[in-house]
Amino acid sequence: MQTIKVKSNRREEMIEITSEVEKHLRETKAAEGVCILFTQHTTCGLTINENADPDVRKDILLFLKNLIPQYYEGFRHFEHNSDAHIKSSLVGSSLTVPFTDGKLFLGRWQGIYLCEFDGARERKVLMILR
Ligand code: ZN
Repeated sequence: MQTIKVKSNRREEMIEITSEVEKHLRETKAAEGVCILFTQHTTCGLTINENADPDVRKDILLFLKNLIPQYYEGFRHFEHNSDAHIKSSLVGSSLTVPFTDGKLFLGRWQGIYLCEFDGARERKVLMILR
């Protein structure tokens, strides 16, 4: 198991970690299998989405922000980050990506993202190969 550290700079942000994952994958010299990525945090998530037009990331964050506002009448959680907890559950905390010939088997336009919903802070992504 390897750990990838990801530093966020804003409260909400999608940070591409594809090259970091591939770097760790190369270091293991594993040829073929599945790469499991998992984050132990409750206010960020992992997703795969378009890596070409950065506006896609902006639109995803904008839509989630409008759907789930930080301050919503009736939210009770004392940290005032219930929106981040909900977004984390919607996005999910793990991914499974096949790899072959030591390379992630992603589509041409796919990138792996850590979705920060309550930054800025340092996050950890666990990487397990099988
Ligand atoms: Zn909280």
